Amino acid sequence: MVQTTYYDPTFSDSPFFYDRHTSSLAQRKDGRLADHFNRKVSYYHPKDVGLYHYGPLHPMKPFRLTLTNELVLGYGLHDYMSVYSPRKATSEEITQFHSHDYIDYLSRVTPASLAADIDVNRVLPAEAQIHTHRIGDDDCPAFSGLFNFCQQYAGASLAAARKLNIGATDIAINWSGGLHHAKKGEASGFCYVNDIVLAILELLRLHPRVLYIDIDIHHGDGVQEAFYRSNRVLTVSFHKFGDHFFPGTGDVTETGLNEGKYFSLNVPLQDGIDDQSYVQLFKDVMGPTINTFQPSVIVLQCGADSLGLDRLGSFNLSIKAHGECVGFIKQFNLPLLVVGGGGYRQSSVSRCWTYETSVLAGVSISPTLPTTLYNGYFPGMELHPTLNNSHLIPNKNTYADLEALKRKIHEQLRVLNGAPSIQMQEIPPSITGLTEEGDDAEADKEEDRREEERDGYLWGINSGRQHVYKR
Ligand SMILES: [Zn+2]
Repeated sequence: MVQTTYYDPTFSDSPFFYDRHTSSLAQRKDGRLADHFNRKVSYYHPKDVGLYHYGPLHPMKPFRLTLTNELVLGYGLHDYMSVYSPRKATSEEITQFHSHDYIDYLSRVTPASLAADIDVNRVLPAEAQIHTHRIGDDDCPAFSGLFNFCQQYAGASLAAARKLNIGATDIAINWSGGLHHAKKGEASGFCYVNDIVLAILELLRLHPRVLYIDIDIHHGDGVQEAFYRSNRVLTVSFHKFGDHFFPGTGDVTETGLNEGKYFSLNVPLQDGIDDQSYVQLFKDVMGPTINTFQPSVIVLQCGADSLGLDRLGSFNLSIKAHGECVGFIKQFNLPLLVVGGGGYRQSSVSRCWTYETSVLAGVSISPTLPTTLYNGYFPGMELHPTLNNSHLIPNKNTYADLEALKRKIHEQLRVLNGAPSIQMQEIPPSITGLTEEGDDAEADKEEDRREEERDGYLWGINSGRQHVYKR
């Protein structure tokens, strides 16, 4: 499963693909976090996005989004957020980044048409790959409703970015997004449309500097590549590197090109990193990065395959540690777009993103999961199940390695501090033209209000309640 004869490394190279083992309503936190209570949080869940299916045995299961959403609603977290079922992204919106011929192909490809395409090119697999934009290998199959799926998760990230741009929300969450491997003209690593790049392009219409942070276990190569020559987007990726681990990029020496030199940061790690090392490193890297780059908005990709016991990943992170990274970024009080990403143990992914929703909404939730239709996925009903030590991966990251890595990153930040960015030019003239609909803030707010009404109707839960910001 998930092996390709055309190129490598792929996800299937992971030795951890297969399983290796063996009520509760939200409450506002009080005290120290009180200053975050007034932050408006918007939650995007495209209707039925969890019903798509990559195919039997494929590790990417959109159903984890249904599980997450059920837990979020079961905890009553929707009472603390505005909830949206956004419209699909159009081809025109998607081609703001992706090439027209790729999106034209993606919008037409079906399992049957792909079979015919590959058959025609059978003797030339490399050319077949180019012809099909790398759709059709085991990682990126053509499945029923593929383009609709892409339009839905991309539409959610775009709607979230627009909401942030008009200042109608402080934090926007789209767990269905975060497909960071997709390239301009080809699919890669279970990703077809790069919703993150699209959302960042939208944010760049208004924001002078965008910080992108990626805590998926795989390198955020698609996003890095898109902005590798830009000094307006700083990308930071924490990931496993080496052992031919997918996608094979993300060494600390990849720092950007031309004007983007030093504006790509990479934190390559080895198997088995534990909570304490990871969280400390994350804070030691991200604190100085934010202080140096001074972003006006942050995009955080929360791939959950960095959790312990993931089927493709080989880190040992707990949900609490993963969530602590999210909480650390939140406390900078900058506009924040949070998206999902990888994560191949559905019960862990859904627990993790539910917990992180509560962190972002500023509420505490019970350690016992709420009852849902899917209790069978959660034996023990614990939000934070204990990781069984005997199934964890030995930590190959030594203290000395991590300190040396940190020094390299800090040195890059020191050099970056002297590099020209966009500080003196808040909104570039060439960008202002793109924000014509943003010129009239009042009209925007009215459109936003209508959108809320429309989406609230579509959403159809607890009518009239989910759009009230409760504090
Ligand atoms: Zn991943």
